Amino acid sequence: LLRAEAVVKSFGDREVLRGVDLSLDRHEVVALIGASGSGKSTLLRCLNLLEPIDDGQIWLDDDDISDPRVDANRVRARFGAVFQSYNLFPHLTVLDNVTLASRVVHRMPRREAEERARDLLQRIGLAEFAKAHPDRLSGGQQQRAAIVRAIATDPELLLLDEVTSALDPELVGEVLELVRQLAAEGTTILMATHEMAFARDVADRVVFLDAGTIVEEGPPAQLFGAPREARTREFLARFT
Ligand code: ATP
Ligand code: MG
Repeated sequence: LLRAEAVVKSFGDREVLRGVDLSLDRHEVVALIGASGSGKSTLLRCLNLLEPIDDGQIWLDDDDISDPRVDANRVRARFGAVFQSYNLFPHLTVLDNVTLASRVVHRMPRREAEERARDLLQRIGLAEFAKAHPDRLSGGQQQRAAIVRAIATDPELLLLDEVTSALDPELVGEVLELVRQLAAEGTTILMATHEMAFARDVADRVVFLDAGTIVEEGPPAQLFGAPREARTREFLARFT
């Protein structure tokens, strides 16, 4: 589905991604782990075409989407993305937040978009908040609404960047449960996370990024249970 080849990204003279190769198949759930500053968010932002890359290519199926002539908005319309915080538009109701992209980008009729949005909100137990503004919701509810908004357009790929890191610990579980459900339904997900137990449990593959390079990747049992690289072992030791 998506393939990054030798992606390089610098900010000023600081090289943040140093030749990253990463591929993602349809229905795969991949967890991106690594220390703070290793480049996880930058990689997700580059894949979502929010940052231009300095070298390498990003392929979406057979199209090179890193070509500067590509219409980034059209590519982004095929992805859903949720970041750490501030994902919902504060001046719109929850329902309008969830239906916005379907109506505006995908030109779905309002009735159809709202029916679908209400179904999704029902599923995550937020139906009663459809007409509320985001500030009435807890952080966990807001983040779940943001994830539902990201999947409302049936994206081919869901990019999640530390969706639980701004949450109080008691709210983390409900957000992870939603991600777990989406993964079980076959949603293709690439998620940066510090939740090692969750990554181990839900991901098909775990990718360890260190200082802008992928040091090691593999199935969770192998990467967590028998890491091959010293840098991976050092990183994981912090969590035990
Ligand atoms: P965290 O786990 O804390 O979220 P991360 O792995 O997501 O970290 P990034 O946010 O990708 O790390 O940052 C990687 C490096 O790039 C950091 O040194 C950061 O300061 C730098 N960086 C990120 N965005 C920018 C930017 N817009 N301008 C300049 N430097 C940036
Ligand atoms: Mg980050």
